[in-house]
Amino acid sequence: MMDTITQLAARLNAATRITVVTGAGVSAASGVPTFRGPGGLWKNMRAETLASADGFAADPSLVWEWYDWRRQLIREAQPNAAHRVLADWTQTRPGTTLVTQNVDGLHERAGSTNVLRLHGSIWQLRCWAECNASGHGWLDERVPISPLPPRCPHCDALARPGVVWFGESLDAAVLDAAVAACNCDVFLSVGTSAVVYPAAGLLHHAQRHGAFTVEINPDATDASGVVDLVIKGKAEEVLKDVDETLTRF
Ligand code: NAD
Ligand code: ZN
Repeated sequence: MMDTITQLAARLNAATRITVVTGAGVSAASGVPTFRGPGGLWKNMRAETLASADGFAADPSLVWEWYDWRRQLIREAQPNAAHRVLADWTQTRPGTTLVTQNVDGLHERAGSTNVLRLHGSIWQLRCWAECNASGHGWLDERVPISPLPPRCPHCDALARPGVVWFGESLDAAVLDAAVAACNCDVFLSVGTSAVVYPAAGLLHHAQRHGAFTVEINPDATDASGVVDLVIKGKAEEVLKDVDETLTRF
């Protein structure tokens, strides 16, 4: 009986189409807190309250204070081994698609190309009034951001973070591309609690296509009982081990 690392490496070695979906857990080792883990609470408030249109409407300054704090943490963070291994795969294995729920940009900083960002980017801002002139928004990488809350440069309405909040729909083109990528040989779900839809539904698409499905997470999730292989461990350790095993094939 092969150990789980070797099993995954063998599957990857034989695969032409590999799709990886990542969540907050891949950035945990970089010091970016997950929403549901330690550090996920801010001023004793749940992320679900702050990362929502209702929360923003109720207190835009408070929500922006939280985003400003997260932007600072992310600015100071460095990509970890999980980001680096995945970046290497996207560069050296042409059939690899990386889909992320993360908004931190660490996959891109590690060198991943063509990342499908399901939930947008924390460095992108949008007009809260959705004025025509502001289009899809603009990049603002200033830490700290000022004024706080920031305003739309076109119409002076409030600006909002260019991320997908709880209760909001995903960009249709990005979601379509992610669903299309579920037609693959190996599907990896890494560092995500697998409860946030529609991202969580990608696993089911992959299964319908007959993909070999794998979860990498130190904790059990809703996906654990459904996937073909569970590797219980940290993304930055497991992916490094898998990558080292792959080079020996
Ligand atoms: P989550 O916070 O719900 O779950 C994180 C998961 O990561 C958990 O299952 C946990 O067991 C696992 N985990 C913790 N440490 C890990 C490690 N070292 N290696 C592997 N797994 C580890 O996050 P989520 O499922 O990604 O979804 C919540 C939403 O929050 C997403 O939409 C995302 O946009 C947003 N979010 C983004 C960031 C970021 O960009 N870094 C951070 C927090 C939340
Ligand atoms: Zn505007």
